Amino acid sequence: MLTHLKHPIFETVKKAAKQLDQDVYVVGGFVRDALLQRPCKDIDFVTVGSGIELAKAVAQQLKGKPEVNYFKNFGTAHIHQDTWDFEFVGARKESYQRNSRKPIVEEGTLQDDQNRRDFTINALAISLNYDTYGELVDPFGGVEDLHNGILRTPLDPEVTFSDDPLRMMRAVRFASQLGFHIEDKTYEGIKRTSKRLSIISQERIIDEVNKIVLSEKPSIGFKLLFNTRLLHQFFPEMVALQGVEERNGQRHKDNFYHTLQVLDNVAEYSNDLWLRWSAIMHDIAKPNTKDFNDKEGWTFHGHEFVGSKMTKRIFRRLKLPLNDRMKYVAKMVLLHLRPIALTKEIVTDSAVRRLIFDAGEDIDDLMLLSKCDITSKNERKVERFLKNLQLVEQKIKDVEERDRIRNFQPPVSGDEIMKLFGLKPSREVGMIKSALKDAVLDGVIKNNRDEAINFVLNKGKELGLTLPHSDN
Ligand code: ATP
Ligand code: MG
Repeated sequence: MLTHLKHPIFETVKKAAKQLDQDVYVVGGFVRDALLQRPCKDIDFVTVGSGIELAKAVAQQLKGKPEVNYFKNFGTAHIHQDTWDFEFVGARKESYQRNSRKPIVEEGTLQDDQNRRDFTINALAISLNYDTYGELVDPFGGVEDLHNGILRTPLDPEVTFSDDPLRMMRAVRFASQLGFHIEDKTYEGIKRTSKRLSIISQERIIDEVNKIVLSEKPSIGFKLLFNTRLLHQFFPEMVALQGVEERNGQRHKDNFYHTLQVLDNVAEYSNDLWLRWSAIMHDIAKPNTKDFNDKEGWTFHGHEFVGSKMTKRIFRRLKLPLNDRMKYVAKMVLLHLRPIALTKEIVTDSAVRRLIFDAGEDIDDLMLLSKCDITSKNERKVERFLKNLQLVEQKIKDVEERDRIRNFQPPVSGDEIMKLFGLKPSREVGMIKSALKDAVLDGVIKNNRDEAINFVLNKGKELGLTLPHSDN
């Protein structure tokens, strides 16, 4: 165990605690990650006594005497040094009241403090006291659970989860992140308590969701969220994707499991949170747009438009950012069918230019999403689709090299058009601008200034505009 205590902070804390005559332990995430040999940059210390006083004493001994940030009400203190975060807290006994997240906190023993932790694997402590330095304190069999990959609450799961319902999200998050199994009683406890998630702020929930989204195989987490009905508490639109309907012997696919497959596929290629969110959202409007007719069977016409519109509302509610990242996801949802649609016709340069124009900088991400969206069980079909997509990809490369549409800037600007014809901002200016854009994208003219000016002059003439008289 001592080998995990290499960082000089441990010696410093040991001495400072001795001076204050307080027992102190490393506890929680750091111990867990050390035993799992996962990197960890935050270290939690629990002391029987004042965490704030201990933190102040420790900071005095550290190089540069870093600042101590503390919250008197919570009895916690924090020191940041280099890339490390040290958290100090006095051992606590907590009890919660129903319908409130605010616990009644009292001072307690190490054992009290371990009792209020969420999982046995997070309740491990290592002594930093002189007589027992380096010894592991493991009252709930956390090391064994760690070894067997099991998530289990230290106390009765319903007590642990009612006290702080976020712990249910954390259970699923750790299951997804570490590939651990949630022990049966703990799992049943989540199912029974899932409705209590409603008292947790959406900000805390989405932090855990994003950790699930960023895990190696996010479908593990989302299936657990669905099966425990936690997902139902905050993301009903995703729940609605689940299910298969049959009419006249025709069945559509289950869009929930399809979405998870696409998400896992994307996760194999990219760690980008927002590309992964695009996968989650890409078919979100399928339930709202679902229809059946004898000719086509099941249809989901316009689900890309409706889904793109839904993105902002859902992001707002989930407390995801409403900035350009939201716009990126909305754009991905809107365009997600376009690359595949292209393969169904003869791929004209003009269609490719339009796709590059609409996707802009994100064209590569869109192609990746499109590739990951192919989830048929029919291998030959998958192969054919992939091959067609490769052709589109090649064509995109060729066209882009030639026409540079990706960062398209009109070769003649709106200002110039106004100057040329002596116009104020008006409908005509907009018409000429958009005709010019179409002409370039459709390949009527080349993406250069000479051809563009000529085109603008002709277009102006068509609209009955005249050039202002020049005096010289
Ligand atoms: P990560 O750092 O990857 O988010 P972690 O388990 O280290 O995971 P922290 O938020 O750093 O999480 O918390 C450190 C420790 O505090 C945990 O290991 C656990 O013992 C305890 N803890 C954190 N949140 C809770 C909670 N909601 N309920 C009970 N104990 C918690
Ligand atoms: Mg941590």
